[in-house]
Amino acid sequence: MTLYIASTNPGKLRDFAAVSHEVSITPLPGLKKIPAPDEDQPTLEGNARLKAIFYSRHAPNHIVLADDSGLEVDALHGDPGVRSARYADDHHLPAPGTPDERNNLCLQQALSQIPGPHPARYHCVLAAARNGEILAIAHGTVEGEILPTPRGTEGFGYDPFFYLPDQKKTMAELDIATKLTFSHRGRAFAALLQALPQPL
Ligand code: IMP
Repeated sequence: MTLYIASTNPGKLRDFAAVSHEVSITPLPGLKKIPAPDEDQPTLEGNARLKAIFYSRHAPNHIVLADDSGLEVDALHGDPGVRSARYADDHHLPAPGTPDERNNLCLQQALSQIPGPHPARYHCVLAAARNGEILAIAHGTVEGEILPTPRGTEGFGYDPFFYLPDQKKTMAELDIATKLTFSHRGRAFAALLQALPQPL
C-alpha cells in the first residue's frame, strides 16, 4: 500500500521515506505544479486538515497525507508553533541565510534574555484524506530543550538546537531511522496507521 504525502519540504520527505511499515509513503505526483493553498489556520491541525482535503482532490481515490508541524517553546508561550516555518519572516528579521538559519537565529534572539533551560516540544499533526474527505487525524509530540549553540548536522529546521535529555543528543545528532522511532513525526505516523479505517 502506498500513501501519498503532500509536502515539498525535503526534511519531512526524508523522514517519511525512512518509514518502513507495511506501507510506503511517496511524494504526491505533480505536487510542485499544483498552486499551494494558503496555510491560514490558527492551529497545526487546522492546516493539516486543509492541506489533506485540498491535495486529495488532485489524486482521486488515493489516500493523501498532509503534515503540519512545529516547535513549541514554553518560555515563548508555545511560539513559534504553527508559525515555525515563517518565524523569522513574521519578525522581519534582517538577516541573510536559509529559512532554517534565519528561524534559528530568530529563536536564539527571542530566548537570549530568558534564563535557561528552555523546555520545548516538537508537535506533528498528520491528516489523511481521500477524495476531499478526512479519514483520520493523528498527533505526535516529543519533549526536549532548546540549546544556545547548535550540535550535529543531520535533520533540518530547529534540529541542531533541539536537545533530547534521554538521548543526550540533539535531533541533528541522530540518524533518520533512530529519529523516527520516537520523534513527533514517527509517533504521529504510528498513531495515524492505527486510526485509519481498515481495510485501506
Ligand atoms: P510546516 O511546513 O508549516 O508544517 O512547517 C514546519 C516547520 O516546523 C519546519 O519548517 C521546521 O521549521 C519545523 N519543524 C517541523 N518538524 C521538524 C523536525 O522534525 N525537525 C526540525 N524542524 C521541524
